[in-house]
Formats: sequence, C-alpha cells, structure tokens
Amino acid sequence: MANNILDKISGAISIGIAGHVRPDGDCVGSCMAMFLYLGKRYPEAKIDVYLEMVPEVFHYIKGIDSVHTSYETDKQYDVFIALDCGDLERLGDAGTLYVNAKHTINIDHHISNTKFADVNYVLPDASSTCETLYTIFEQEEIDKHIAAALYTGIVHDTGVFKHSNTSAQTMKIAGDLLSHDIPFSKIIDESFYQKTYVQNQLLGRCLTESILVLDGKCIVSTISQKTMEFYGARPKDIDGIIDQLRVTKGVEVALLLHETGTQQYKVSMRSNNQVDVSKIAVYYGGGGHVKAAGVTMQGTAYDVINNITKMIYQQLQELS
Ligand code: 5GP
Ligand code: MN
Repeated sequence: MANNILDKISGAISIGIAGHVRPDGDCVGSCMAMFLYLGKRYPEAKIDVYLEMVPEVFHYIKGIDSVHTSYETDKQYDVFIALDCGDLERLGDAGTLYVNAKHTINIDHHISNTKFADVNYVLPDASSTCETLYTIFEQEEIDKHIAAALYTGIVHDTGVFKHSNTSAQTMKIAGDLLSHDIPFSKIIDESFYQKTYVQNQLLGRCLTESILVLDGKCIVSTISQKTMEFYGARPKDIDGIIDQLRVTKGVEVALLLHETGTQQYKVSMRSNNQVDVSKIAVYYGGGGHVKAAGVTMQGTAYDVINNITKMIYQQLQELS
C-alpha cells in the first residue's frame, strides 16, 4: 500500500500541498518534508505549498520562505495533497484548490479521518503525519533537510516523545532521522519549549483562572477575545497551555476554551486515561485523537463547558 501512495504523482506537472488551519509543528513539518521530497523526486514538477500562516519558530526548515499564505483559487493542480487534515474542512481556504484538483491525496494519522480523497493513507497508530510520511518516502531520498522537517513534526505531536502516541516505531524513526546529523536539541528548544513573554503571561493567566469540575477530574480554563487583545496575542500563543492543564494531579480531562467569535469557542481537549475525547469532539463536529481532540462550538462558555463535561461524566460513569 505505502509504495503506491505517490503513484498518481509521477507525470504530474503541477502539485499542490496544504495542511490544516492554524498549522502546528506536524502540519508545517509534514508539508515541508513533502515539498522537499517531491522536489528531489520530481524535479520537473511545479510544486506549491499552502499554509494559512507560518509560525516563525520553524524558520530553520529549508524552503519555508516559499510557502504561500494566500490562495489563487482559480488554479487547477494535477495533484493536490492534504496533510495532517482529518477532514476536508480542516484545509480552510486551501479547500477550493483541493476540490479543483484533478487528483487528490490525503495523508494523515487522525483516527477520525473521513477518507475524503481519491487516495487515502491514514495510519491512526502513527504518532504524527511526519511518521506516516517516513513510511512512504524512499529512504535514499531522505536528506538532512527532509529529516529535520520530519523530526519537527514527530517532536511536536508527541510532546517531545512523551505522549501515549509515542511507540517503539516512533523512536526508531526518530533515531534514524538523527543519523542525518540534524540539530535536534536546537529544533526541540527553539520550536517547542521556547516561549515568548506574552505566551508565558497567557499561560500563567490560564492556570490562575482555571477551575476544577467533576470532582477534580476535569480542569477547565477559558481565554476571552478581550484577554487576547490585552496581551496582543495571536492564536498560536495559546499552544502548549492545554498540556500544562493536563498534568494537574487527579485530572482525567483538561479543557481549554478559546473565544474565537461572539458565542463561539475553539475547544481543545486532552485526556490522561480512558476518556475518549475524540468521540466528544466528533459528536460536536470536530475531530482528533483518543487523547487529544478539538472542536469549534457555538454558545456561551457556560453552555460549551456544560455540554462537554456532561459527555465526560457519562464516559467516566461507563468506565467506573
Ligand atoms: P488542538 O487541541 O491542539 O487544536 O488539537 C488537538 C487535535 O485535535 C489535533 O490532532 C487536531 O488536528 C484535532 N482538531 C482540533 N480541532 C479540530 C477541529 O475543529 N476539527 C477536527 N477534525 N480536528 C480538530
Ligand atoms: Mn498531526
């Protein structure tokens, strides 16, 4: 199976690549690794990468300056590849380019993936889309630059090899990537751990204002638009806060609500044990993994928290 995934690409003159809205490390890493890899394998093809925005922490990835952040929607690609997207909606504005393309490919690792392309390659057991790509790429084509991009995605989606999606296979692949002499400490420090002053301020505020519900089994924090404006923060500045909420002692599920519009919240969910947060996210129109999922919901923060915690409670009851 894996070897046939890129068959549709041979002979393609134009190839488009895109990841999901609010791109994270795995999204950026997988899109750039694919861009660099296809550039080597098919030097005659015109390849474009689209991302809504490029967080500056990924500046070290080769080719990152050529990413398109605006979309010429009348373009028709021979092949369009969606990476790290559980469903078509996740492509955001790149969705139009995807729909217009002659052939489509979807490569991902989300259990909730809706298999929306002509060719779908989804490995729900893989830590990341970057790990999935490693199983497709011809080994001899992987160079230092491709290795650094793939390593970035694996590091970010595993929380530096600590989340439960980290497998022996993940570590073997990461080990092989290290053999390409990549600056792994620098990648981890600068793209993952380093926080700006504003990011630290927001983190502190979310922790201070968090509340425990469901007998201490669920922790919830909310960030309003007003707070974001006060700190001059962008959505990317929230990344990582949910992980700190999750490691609160006794907590089974962590929820972070980010107000994105009037009565609209982007909800991040993380589970420590048996609660399946992907089920809850999918129920409300989102998606993700068993232990990390997200969804955008309408209503007041109270409504959103009420609806989600009710489902968490049900799952906890079924498990006990
Ligand atoms: P995060 O909470 O970090 O935004 O997302 C956690 C996981 O859930 C990621 O794997 C992400 O791709 C997925 N996810 C987050 N929001 C959505 C959403 O609105 N729709 C879908 N399908 N997946 C989401
Ligand atoms: Mn991912």
